[in-house]
Amino acid sequence: MNNLFKKIPKIDTFVNDKIFSGLNKELLTDIVRKNIDKLRQKIKDKTLKDFSMEDLADDIKKEYEKTISPSLKPLINATGVILHTNMGRSLVSREILQKAAGAICSYSNLEYDQEKGKRGERYSHITKDLQTLLEVESALVVNNNASAVFLILNTFAKNKEVVVSRGELVEIGGSFRVPEVMKESGAKLKEIGTTNKTKLSDYEDAITDNTAMLLKVHKSNFDIVGFSEDVSFEEISHLAKTHNILDYYDLGSAYIPELPYNLGQKEPPLKKILKSNPSLVSFSGDKLFGGVQAGIIIGKKEYIDKLKQNQLLRMLRVDKITLSILQESLKAYIFKEYDKIPTLKLLFTDTKALKTRAKNIKQTLKNNICEVVESKTYMGGGTLPNRTFPTIALAFKGDAIELEKKFRSYDLIGRIENDKFLIDFRSILPELDDKVSEIIKKVFEQNDY
Ligand SMILES: *Cc1c(COP(=O)(O)O)cnc(C)c1O
Repeated sequence: MNNLFKKIPKIDTFVNDKIFSGLNKELLTDIVRKNIDKLRQKIKDKTLKDFSMEDLADDIKKEYEKTISPSLKPLINATGVILHTNMGRSLVSREILQKAAGAICSYSNLEYDQEKGKRGERYSHITKDLQTLLEVESALVVNNNASAVFLILNTFAKNKEVVVSRGELVEIGGSFRVPEVMKESGAKLKEIGTTNKTKLSDYEDAITDNTAMLLKVHKSNFDIVGFSEDVSFEEISHLAKTHNILDYYDLGSAYIPELPYNLGQKEPPLKKILKSNPSLVSFSGDKLFGGVQAGIIIGKKEYIDKLKQNQLLRMLRVDKITLSILQESLKAYIFKEYDKIPTLKLLFTDTKALKTRAKNIKQTLKNNICEVVESKTYMGGGTLPNRTFPTIALAFKGDAIELEKKFRSYDLIGRIENDKFLIDFRSILPELDDKVSEIIKKVFEQNDY
C-alpha cells in the first residue's frame, strides 16, 4: 500500500485541530470529508506525489470561507454608469429601506381592508400614491416591465393584431425581444413602416377589424439618427382613440423631475407623456425612476381592471417587499425629496462636487500615481441612448488592463478609457470615498507604491 495513505488524517481528530477553532463543526466536517476523498482519489490515481498537512488545512479553510461568504455582495461601481444593468440598476436608499421595513418585518394590511374588516387589494396601496403623483385613473404593479408588456398584450391582444413600427422592434437585452414577447403572449404582430421611417398614415392603413391596439415601444438602448422619422405617442394615442382601439406605450424607463444636462431633450418626462391621456403606459421601477425592480402600469381604470382579472397576474404579482419600498419611493416623489432616490442624487451631483471628492482622494495618495480628469459618461440601463453628460474621474498611470483586474479583485469596478484605468465618481456613493482611497492604496502597495 502507498505510504501516502497513512499520512491522511483521521476526520474526527482533524476537525478538532486548533487551526480550525471557531469554525462550524458540521460544515467543516463535510468539507474535510470531501477534501480527504479527493486526496485519496489522487493518491490512487498516482497524480499526487506528496502533500503537507498545512496545505491540506489551508485548502479546507479557503473552501470553508468560500462556502460561508455570500455570493451576492456589494461592489463599488466606479464605471460612471449610474444605471449599470449588471450591477443591479438603481439603488434603494437606506432611508427608504428603513421606512419600508416596517411593513416588511411585521404583519400588515397588505390584503386587508381595515375599515371594512375584510379582504382588501394589495395594489390599492400604490394606486393611491400613483394617482396623487401622476393624476392617473388607476395603476398596477407587476414583477418587472417585461411582465407588464406580456400581461397587457395577453389581456387585450390575444389572437388579435398589434400595430408596431419596424423601427421599434427592439431587443432590450437579457433576451427581451419585442417580436418574441408578442408571439409568446398570443398577440399578432403587425409591422408597419421601415427601420428608419414610419408615418402616421402607416398606422392608419394598418388598422383592421382585428386590431386590438397601437403599440409604441421605446427604443431604449439605441437611437436612429439621420434620415429618419417616427410618430409621436401623442399622435398614435389620438389615432387609436378615433378608431376606438387601445393605445399603449411601453416606455421602458420613465422620469419625474426634469433631467439635468439637457438629458431629457429627446424624451419628455412622464407627466408630459400622460397629457395625451393614454389607455396604458408601462415602465420599469428600477431604471430612471430609481426604485425597486417592478413593472409599473398606469392608465385608464377600465383597462387596469381588466388586467387585474387576468389569471396571469397571479404569476407576475409583486410581494410586500416590492410594494413597501415602491410606496416609500412614491412618497419621496410626492414630497419632491429627490435626494432620497440614489439614482437622481448621483445624476444631479454637479461636477464641482465630484472634482472636490476626486482631489481629496488624490491628496491621500503618494507618488503622483493618478490625475483628476474631466470626462463624459452615459446613464446606462437602456435609457437615454447616446446621450452623454459630464463626469470627473481619477486616471491612473500604469497598465490599464492589469489595474482593472486588480481593482476588480478588491470589489471596485472601474473603466478603461484611452488606455487609462479610470475611477469615475459619477456612480460612486460619497460615503464610499474612504473605502475607495483604501483600495487604491492596497492596489499600489503591491506595485511598490
Ligand atoms: C427595459 C425595458 C423593458 C424591460 O423592462 P424590465 O423592467 O427590465 O423587465 C421593456 N421594454 C422597454 C422599452 C424597456 O426599455
